[in-house]
Amino acid sequence: MSEKRALVVGAGLSGATIARTLADSGVKVTVWEKEKYVGGAISDYKKDDYFVQRHGPHLFHTSSEEAYAFLSRFTEWFDYRHTVRSHITSKYIDRYTLSTDIKDKYIPVPFNFTSLEALYPADKAKKIESVLVGKYGADAAVSISELRLNPDPEIKEFAEFVYETVFKYYSFKQWGLDMAAIDPAVFKRVPVRTGYIDGYFADKYQAMPKDGFSAIVENMLKSENIVVETGVDALERLEIEDKSIKVYGKPSDYPVIFTGCIDELCGDRFGRLPYRTLRFDLKEEDTPSYQPYGVVNYTVTEPFTRISEFKKFTVENSRAKTSVTVREYPRSYDRESKLSPYYPMPTAEAKESYAKYADYVKDIKNLYFAGRLGSYVYVNMDKAVDRALELAHKILEAAFIG
Ligand code: UDP
Repeated sequence: MSEKRALVVGAGLSGATIARTLADSGVKVTVWEKEKYVGGAISDYKKDDYFVQRHGPHLFHTSSEEAYAFLSRFTEWFDYRHTVRSHITSKYIDRYTLSTDIKDKYIPVPFNFTSLEALYPADKAKKIESVLVGKYGADAAVSISELRLNPDPEIKEFAEFVYETVFKYYSFKQWGLDMAAIDPAVFKRVPVRTGYIDGYFADKYQAMPKDGFSAIVENMLKSENIVVETGVDALERLEIEDKSIKVYGKPSDYPVIFTGCIDELCGDRFGRLPYRTLRFDLKEEDTPSYQPYGVVNYTVTEPFTRISEFKKFTVENSRAKTSVTVREYPRSYDRESKLSPYYPMPTAEAKESYAKYADYVKDIKNLYFAGRLGSYVYVNMDKAVDRALELAHKILEAAFIG
């Protein structure tokens, strides 16, 4: 019987999940990774007693039993509930003449009743709260897109206020587009809450890995059936030709799982797909605590979207005397620059362009795409794991059992 084998391109969370799942079923897996390190977008490194995340803040949260159980094979966790604040300035609020005593404030995001009461005069805040609860129920999560469509004049006015203070400018910075052009699903990630519940996520499991995220991926790849090669540009070794995926010029007779940008592998035949990237401005601040929360979003001012302070969410208690922060400056991705692509563009036009690629590769039976870049989807870590597990099982059935 010939050896069962597979090639995985990319040692990020999706690639590693697939590699490990195949390896656990006896498949000999080769993993090619472009960088010198594994982990892709979730990779981190230790600084003093905490972790600096190379590609911006990553917080784990899930309601998926499968994803949580799978990842728990490779790490221990500590409980961490992520709370985010938006930094709002008095200068901006003055324009709205809502409340007169506002200096620089940190208000909860998702916007909730605490945010409302911090920014509105008390009587007006109470009135809006009762209208919101009457319409959506207590402790509901409502998307800003839905809220803005509500015809009730009081809700409408409130919705426009939240839109302006939390979403409009931040989203423009993040995507370079007006919100109208962006898939409304993006805004559901950060709803408006009709109550006092605080916290960025609402999932059953909210935890961070005790040894960081890179360690999870490193542990996943520790298998006698997996060989990892780092510093490999897979595009120099792969090509699509005659409806087949060629490895070193020969059509492969084993599964190839590609987690890089699908347009690059396909030679840009339908044009380049748009991705959003970030320039990270890392600073070692000369203080043990730089800001009151792990992540502060700058929703109305500043050219960056947020400041993250890693020690506040990557360990339980840091004793480090300094603190590394990162400011994120979004921009469109340009393959020639040194920045990595992070987000597929959540627009209808981009989805249509991606569909041409998906259609082009669908008949290449042993070529599979995974991850944010390969599948062109904006998913969180847990969803990436769920999707990768599902694909790995499909590959096992199609290529090795069926
Ligand atoms: N968003 C916003 N203001 C905020 C937080 C989020 O407008 O204070 C919007 C923005 O469009 C962003 C999206 O909601 O891209 C999703 O936010 P999330 O924090 O989930 O983004 P990620 O951490 O994945 O970059």
